[in-house]
Amino acid sequence: VKKDKGGAATANEVYVLDKDYAWVPARLIEQNGEKVRVSIPTYAEEAQILSDCGKGAKRWMEKEIHLKHYPGKTLPLQNIKNGSLNEKEDMVDLPYLHEAAILFNLKARHIQGLPYTRTGDIVIALNPYQWLDDLYSEKKQNRYSQKLVWESHDSDPRQEIAPHVYETSALSYKGLAADGQNQSILVSGESGAGKTETVKICMNHIASVQAGPGSKHKKANKVVQRVVESNPLLEAFGNAKTRRNDNSSRFGKYIQLQFDRGDASVGERIPPCMLAGSKCDVYLLEKTRIVQHDENERTYHIFYQILAAEDSDKAAIWSGLRGKRNQDFKYVGKCAPLNYDGHTDDQHYYNTVKSLELIDIKDEKLMTLMRAITVVMQLGNINTGPLHGDYDKSTVTNRNELDDLSELIGIPSNDMIHALTERTMTTRGEVFKVPLKPDQAKDSCDAFAKEIYSKLFLWLVREINDATCAEKNYSGQRQADFTTIGLLDIFGFESFPVNGFEQLCINYANEKLQQKFTRDIFQTVQEEYKFEGIRLDDIMYDNNTDVLDLIEGRGGLLAILNEECVRPKGSDREFVYKAKDTNKNSACLINDKLLGPMDFGIHHYAGKVVYFADGFLVRNQDAIAADLKEIAKKSSNDIIANHLDNDKSLNEENDTAARNMPPRRGKSGISNDTLWSKFKTQLNSLMKSLNETQSRYIRCIKPNTLKKPFILQHMTTVEQLRCAGVVAAVTISRSAFPNRLDHRACLERFKLLSKKKAKKSSKGDTKDEVTKMLERALRGMPSSDDGREPFVVGKTRVYFRAGALEFLESERMKGW
Ligand code: ADP
Ligand code: MG
Repeated sequence: VKKDKGGAATANEVYVLDKDYAWVPARLIEQNGEKVRVSIPTYAEEAQILSDCGKGAKRWMEKEIHLKHYPGKTLPLQNIKNGSLNEKEDMVDLPYLHEAAILFNLKARHIQGLPYTRTGDIVIALNPYQWLDDLYSEKKQNRYSQKLVWESHDSDPRQEIAPHVYETSALSYKGLAADGQNQSILVSGESGAGKTETVKICMNHIASVQAGPGSKHKKANKVVQRVVESNPLLEAFGNAKTRRNDNSSRFGKYIQLQFDRGDASVGERIPPCMLAGSKCDVYLLEKTRIVQHDENERTYHIFYQILAAEDSDKAAIWSGLRGKRNQDFKYVGKCAPLNYDGHTDDQHYYNTVKSLELIDIKDEKLMTLMRAITVVMQLGNINTGPLHGDYDKSTVTNRNELDDLSELIGIPSNDMIHALTERTMTTRGEVFKVPLKPDQAKDSCDAFAKEIYSKLFLWLVREINDATCAEKNYSGQRQADFTTIGLLDIFGFESFPVNGFEQLCINYANEKLQQKFTRDIFQTVQEEYKFEGIRLDDIMYDNNTDVLDLIEGRGGLLAILNEECVRPKGSDREFVYKAKDTNKNSACLINDKLLGPMDFGIHHYAGKVVYFADGFLVRNQDAIAADLKEIAKKSSNDIIANHLDNDKSLNEENDTAARNMPPRRGKSGISNDTLWSKFKTQLNSLMKSLNETQSRYIRCIKPNTLKKPFILQHMTTVEQLRCAGVVAAVTISRSAFPNRLDHRACLERFKLLSKKKAKKSSKGDTKDEVTKMLERALRGMPSSDDGREPFVVGKTRVYFRAGALEFLESERMKGW
């Protein structure tokens, strides 16, 4: 095979599947039926560096590949030129769009410090792991808002600017201001991929766009400041250091920026809409972290912040805090000082206090909040042991710690002991006390701590909403009077060596979002084909309704788990048995013999996950004992006494009504009050709200696990591309016609193939010209089984069915 003089990759350059590096570029030496011989770089490390491919023959090794084992797994490598990548800003412009091409396109950009790439309307954002000042300058912000919001264009203005998340924020603002339609930006990715940063970057941009050209709207500044400042607050209470991310959000959030409707009477083409406030809803704060964390991780930042404050400030919260350090509290524990977001814990403390003041939490209210957090810490120090040597009963063994707790929470020590070491039961109208064993009593301390902290978090979110929501700032107006841009920052798909109840909830949420994602992509593809004037008869795409059915449908996992939670002798094991039995015909449920009686697996859209059902019932019930609820009401701390019964994070109007209602039971007597049911309700309302918006997607990718700039690890990146549905999105848009080229590009590339010099048609009609040329050029192609045309010419592009472009390419090679 001759080398293409133009330097474009020749047909003998391919990507081959590799078990360590996902895909590596290689040269095809010989193909013999199912066997191919390729040469690939000797050192796997070198496969990492693209500029090496094609050079230094001694560094290449020959390898025989049986295609039988890799069906369809050598992919044409068309985007490499002279050993370096001819990368594209929009992956849709890659002539061959497959996983390997996507991977290497992203890589080529990443190593040049270009984190953003488009796939049609989706922005793929690789975490740069370094702050790129130029990328986020005011000038850049203005350029995107100028081009995409304020100027008018005949063609897509994105062609003139590099891909950026600012295009997502600018287009959202434009959609809001110009069309008056609610917008949303859905940011996804695994932990550490950059979701939270991306949301902040977009939020700041939107705040700057709304100030309008030559900002004359000073009034909004205070609102903007409050809205933007609510981020670090949520982070202080809901973020923690994990192995994967020093500042990892341990909850999901949906922030809606609210805008007043622009005044169309001003007569401007786009009436500027002013930011009027914001509202935040939060999902599934990770509770276990409050009472335990891995050695290299931390609990929530706020604990360390308090303990890092000046002694006098600590003493103002509680005199007993004076001189106390991290290691004095078991839940907090010893750990190396952490500097995240450019600040130390003590600097963060004073910033947190300042942000709290901005939403009017100061003086006594501030102390109440800080004291409630100290109660949580102190609960971890309570030790329990047998009562007078009787291991069926228990008591608190360190009286001094208990007295400190009693002082902090404002409940007499003896009352605390009873609430922590006994359980009140009612059987046939008779009330009696059952003693708890020492470790059960310890569990009740943990449960109490988790309850207080998680409710305090919701309380804080309500306080933030009260201070930032537009309804407050513009009294008398209601939600409906504002248009919104929602930003979703929610945990990505998770699959660990052991997966529990939390992973199931998280992956369930991801299935819901994936369903919306595929539907939206499908719709844009439909619109594109309609615009091109192409009939759409055979678009196929994977839909995940069967997984969702398995999870939330009738007889699905959720229903069975809830039933098991109310059954007097319900157990985790029985749940697994029933789940498998009822759903034995579901293709999505993995029920193979290798799985133990506590395991079950699900084929998620992003891959197979095996769950271990230990603790599912308890986690799902998510209730603390009535004794603890009762005792909490006696606390002198307002947050603990009055806000433990409240689940809502949004200040809904019917809040009080909901609070006074007894636990709801469904028709079948199944509780709707479990954690999962509540999460389902929350998710459904999120989906409903998202469905009323125009959605845009940002897929964040963590290019390496080292948290270092410029490095891209193939394996983990490919996995994320799969999970993010990027490959699927491409597949949907390319399922009927895997390749496409616009008319001009097509003519340029293949004009040599038509023997006759293509006559310019009199009208200069390129569509006609292209059609004629391709008809001639593809004459030699074996016809397909179903007898369909190998290509269709649309208004601006040519769409090729599978094999057609490859055929043209090989013909072109022969031509040399
Ligand atoms: P996630 O919310 O997905 O878990 P974060 O947004 O917290 O991830 O990002 C993790 C870390 O990665 C951040 O603390 C920051 O150091 C870095 N990072 C993420 N996005 C960017 C960016 N656009 N520019 C620079 N650094 C970033
Ligand atoms: Mg985050």
